[in-house]
This record gives sequence, structure tokens and C-alpha cells, in this order.
Amino acid sequence: MKQSTGPTGLQTPLQYLKGVGPRRAALLERKGLSTVGDALFFVPLRHEDRTRLTPLRALQPGQTLTCSGVIVGVSPPPRGRPQVPFTVMLRDESGHATATWFRSPYLERVLKRGQRLVLHGRIDRYRGTITITQPDFEIVESGEDERLHTGRLVPVYSVTEGLTQRPVRALMWRIVEAFAKEVPEILPPAARAGARLVDLSLAVHDAHFPQTEAALAAARRRLAFDDFLLLQLGLAILRSRTTRARGIAMNPPGALVARLRAALPFALTPAQERVWQEIRRDMAAPFPMHRLLQGDVGSGKTVVAALAVLAAVEAGYQAAVMAPTEILAEQHFMTFRQLIEPLGVSVSLLTAALRARERAARRAALATGELQCVVGTHALVQEGVEFRRLGLAVVDEQHRFGVEQRARLRAKGEHPDLLVMTATPIPRTLALTLYGDLDVSVVDQLPPGRKPVVTVARTEGRRAQIYAFLREQIASGRQVYVVYPLVEESEAIDLKAATDMARHLREDVFPDLTVGLLHGRLGFDDKEAIMRRFKAGEIHILVSTTVIEVGIDVPNAAVMLIEHAERFGLSQLHQLRGRVGRGPWKSYCILLTGSHLTEDGERRVAAMVETHDGFRIAEVDLELRGPGEFFGTRQSGLPEFRVADLLRDAPLLEEARRAAAVIVAADPELRDPAHRALRRELLHRWPGKLDLASVG
Ligand code: ADP
Ligand code: MG
Repeated sequence: MKQSTGPTGLQTPLQYLKGVGPRRAALLERKGLSTVGDALFFVPLRHEDRTRLTPLRALQPGQTLTCSGVIVGVSPPPRGRPQVPFTVMLRDESGHATATWFRSPYLERVLKRGQRLVLHGRIDRYRGTITITQPDFEIVESGEDERLHTGRLVPVYSVTEGLTQRPVRALMWRIVEAFAKEVPEILPPAARAGARLVDLSLAVHDAHFPQTEAALAAARRRLAFDDFLLLQLGLAILRSRTTRARGIAMNPPGALVARLRAALPFALTPAQERVWQEIRRDMAAPFPMHRLLQGDVGSGKTVVAALAVLAAVEAGYQAAVMAPTEILAEQHFMTFRQLIEPLGVSVSLLTAALRARERAARRAALATGELQCVVGTHALVQEGVEFRRLGLAVVDEQHRFGVEQRARLRAKGEHPDLLVMTATPIPRTLALTLYGDLDVSVVDQLPPGRKPVVTVARTEGRRAQIYAFLREQIASGRQVYVVYPLVEESEAIDLKAATDMARHLREDVFPDLTVGLLHGRLGFDDKEAIMRRFKAGEIHILVSTTVIEVGIDVPNAAVMLIEHAERFGLSQLHQLRGRVGRGPWKSYCILLTGSHLTEDGERRVAAMVETHDGFRIAEVDLELRGPGEFFGTRQSGLPEFRVADLLRDAPLLEEARRAAAVIVAADPELRDPAHRALRRELLHRWPGKLDLASVG
């Protein structure tokens, strides 16, 4: 994180500071800290309130808190039994407690009787005594600057090997005292006043060494606001450029669309109807469409996207449908082909798995315009595939099609319309973060007749019973999915497990039934053949790796058994479950798990059993994985936050978004001298991505 706010003391390299030699400078560098400015924005992980240490006597299991005591006894684990925790006995004026650490043999060299510790951690009961488990700790030595390390709100920093808490805190103290006041304000006064924010240099100071909790809260609020504002500003600028750009107005009579509608065995739901009208209007307008199509799994987004493809084709343009992986692309291809090929629209698949000659032929057909719709991976945009007249890009997003790729697509000649589909129903404020440069349409209604899927969690001991249940269901005419996890890191092992299981089921358990196996390594034709047979009811049990996440649509398959369910992510489980419950029968999803789950694993499984609400599932997922993982911020190309937390600070996001809109409406490319500091910081947070016009 390079700080670039002006030619001041802020740019002083840290190694020029007293007490920072080359060794420590190198360690700081590893944390991304090379200048004073970097350090000022290296905010603490948290603060400990050491004005109010909890007396040892008052410790209650379940609390997370800070306490202090003198070591009166040390017991390392016995030789050869590393599973026994390292334990120290502590005493303060009020009483005794113990602290325990697991698998931390180095503590034997560090912790000694007579030392005073400050500890922060969770209180548990272990073998009948109150203990603070796996706490963060600091040895408090007398004679040091007590003002800094005790008796106040003490900052705790992220440290690494060789860089310990106390010296880092002391260094930060000196830096903050000397330089925080030099941090220049970046917000225009109106924006600051509007959101009631403290000024930036005070915020920087108090984010490290606040006098009170209130000062700390105000500081964090200011810094979080800046995180959000700079994100929203960038998005607002991108968005304002789209709305000012010339796009393609596609307004065909609608014959193809009408024919698909007539061919569908159902009427669109009101939600689909509304969303389709939004899309149709965007496509007809002479500006590039930039729309997010959100809807829970099974809500019928694909049909709507197919209507959009047909509108583009009828208007004389080409359409591209893109998915994040080859497998998903193949599945979309099967679906789209089924929907639009019968209407005489040419559609073909373009992936890396094709033979070179075949690929070349399809690319050529795109370049001449002979091919009207192509389905492929996101690489379609990256590889410079040429279209004769690309009018519409449909992107199945899954968080992986980032801002940069969207920009690249926009840059492809005529500003094609863009429709991004996502099956993760994220809260609106959060959608604004990741998709702030898009309009949002939500299919907030499932097609009629969908029934909740009975979902249960089971362990290995119930396997025989589960098999009996599957047999019963098949006897009554249903079909079954058995899903196996497959992750890249252990692909070979996972694939073998799925293959072995298919054989075991076929030979030992259900020798009288037909068991099929579907996995990503099969060629496209083999996959398609198996899916066709399953759909036709010729296969009773389909053992599959996660390739069936999207696109499979077999209403008669009413039971899904998910093996090693704890290994799947929550949204993946939700997507999988969306494959059953599509027919008139009662449907089941059985989550088979190991007996010792991690806490997260347990929460994922519990959430699945508890709810079908994709919105609720997404919330739990977001809590468990954290926003960075959840949104794939890294791939999305969005700037990282220093302080802001999407969950905790969501209301602030709305305020920042409004402030950004006001600023961009008045000054779309931030040319106003009053916005100079803001502009500099914006370019710094979005390096190379915004391409702001230079200030004249
Ligand atoms: P999504 O892509 O949102 O997960 P799909 O488009 O795959 O959902 O639709 C799921 C299933 O519902 C498909 O079998 C589709 O044919 C069917 N479907 C879509 N819209 C309707 C509707 N309005 N009424 C009945 N079934 C529908
Ligand atoms: Mg779908």
C-alpha cells in the first residue's frame, strides 16, 4: 500500500526513522510498510481496553476479554505428549486462573515465573477449572513506557515472525505523534459535514491511540467512510461513462421472442416478466445496457437471458454467453441450445477443450457473423475473439467476472449490452458495492409449484438406512443424485473416490439398478449422453462430482445425497439442492457428513437444514467467509478496504454512495481543483483502472 498524498514527511522511508534499522525495515516492508504514510494507515487489528482489566476472580466461561496476572506456575506438556496444552497459573489481587495454549512448544522459552502478563482471549472451562484458552498475550516489563502499553485503549497490530507487538506499538506511537498531523484532508468540506466526519489527520491519530472509545469509533467511522467513498467514486465514474457512451439500440419487432414464449411449456412469472421488460427497455435504448440479473437458484434467470439473446439476434447482432468455468459453459450451452436452436438461431460452444481446427472454424464463423450465439468461458473477452457485430454479452457471474473484465468488454468496439447473472441473492447494499456500476434487476419469485426440499444431516452410521430410502424412492419412480466433492487440490483423489463409489453402488448396493457417473474429465459428448439418458429416465442413480451445479433440469430427480457435505461451500450446497424439488413430488436432500466437523462446517450444514431462503443462506455464507472471500474481492479488481467492514458498516456504505453520486454528478472526471486531493487518492486506490482524463 503506497501512500501518495503529497510531498511531505509522509513519504519518509521508515528506515530513516530512529530505531528502525535495515532488519526491521525489511520486516516492515513485508507487511507492505515502507513509508511513514504507509504506517499511518496501518490500522490496528483491534484495541484492548486496559483501563478495565477483568479481575481473575470474575472470569466467566464464554466471555472474550482482557485480563492481567503474574505467572506463579508453568507446566509444559510432558515429553512426547504434544497434545497436552501448555499451561500457566496466574494470580492477581482477586484470585487465580490458568491460561492454556495448544501446540506452542516455543512458549517454554518465553514464559517464566514472576512475569506479569496481559492476556486477551476466550474464557473456557477446561477439566473443571476456569481457563483462558489460546490467548494473545504480552509480557509487561516494568520500566517501559507504561502510558503506551497499559492503562489505556491499547492498539494491537498485525505482526509477523521477528516483529513483536510492543516494539511495533512503540514505533507506531512515535510515527503517529510526529506525523499524523501532516495527513492532508481529502474530502471536500461539504461531503465531510454532510456525513458528520472528523478530519482525516485526527482520524488517523485516533485510529491508533484514542483517548476514549468514542474517539476510536469516530476515527474508524471516518476511515471506513473513506474506504467506501473511494470505492463508490470509482464505480460512479465508470458508471457515468457508460451512461454517457453511445451504445447500440436494439429494438426488433420481437418475432423470435414471441416464438420462444409460445414454445415454453409455461408462462413467465410476474417477476420474470418485469425483469424482462427492464432488460428489453435497456436494449432498445441507445446507451449500453449494464445490468445485473439477480435471482435465487431455479428462479428462471436462464429463460430471461435467452429472451435477451433472441432480441439481439433478431436485431441483427451476435450474442455471447460466458461462464466462469468450462463445465459451466458446457452446461449453459446445452440449455441455450435447447431453447434457441429450434428457432433457427445458430449457437455453438467455444472452449479451450476443442481441437485447434474446430476452434478456428468456430472463431471464423463468429468473425463472419455466420454464428449468431456463442457460449464459452470468460476467456472469450480476454482472448481477443473477434465478432462481426457483438450486441449482447450475457455473463454468468459467480463473483468472478470483475470490474476489469467488464471494462474490457465495454472497450470491445460498439459497447455491447451487458447482462450479468448471479444466483447469489446478496443484500442490496452489498450488491451496490460489488456491482455499483450496474443497474440491478431481481427475479424475486420462484416458478409456481416449487416445494421446499426436506433437508436432513446424517452421519456415516445411517448409510444403510439411507440406501434403503433411496431404493424406496426409486421403486416409486423417482431418480437420485449422489454428489461427490471435487476440489482442484485433490482432484485425482476426489475423482477416484467418486469413481469407486459409482462402482460400489453399481456392483454391490444396487446391482439391479442403473448407476451413471458424471464428472468434469469426461468429454463433452459423453457428458451430454449421460445427461440425456438421465433425463430420459434410463439412469436411476447419477453419481456426480459438482458438475451438476447448474443447468441440469430433471424434475423427476427428487432425491439428492451429498457425500462429505462439510467439504462444500454454503452457496455451492444451496445451488446443488436447487437441482431437486422441481417436480410435483416431495423432494429430499440428505447431507452426509463426517462425525467431527469444524465449527464452520457445522454452521454450513445447520444453515442448509434450517432454511431454503437463498438470501438467508448468502448472509450466513458472508458471515462465515468474510466479505473478501465471499465477493472474491481480489479477482473482482476492486480496491481493498483498510478499515471498512461490509457487514458492520453497511449503513455507512449508503451514505458514502450518496456522497459519491453528488461529487460525480458535479464533476464526472474530478477536474475541479477542489477535488485534487481526492482525485490523487482515488488514482492511488484504483491503480491504472480508472484512466481519469488528465486535469487541463
Ligand atoms: P436459474 O437459472 O435462475 O437457476 P432456470 O432458468 O434454470 O433458473 O430455471 C429453472 C427451471 O425452472 C427450468 O427448468 C426452467 O425451465 C423452469 N422455469 C423457468 N421459468 C419458469 C416459469 N415461469 N414457470 C415454470 N417453470 C419455469
Ligand atoms: Mg440456471
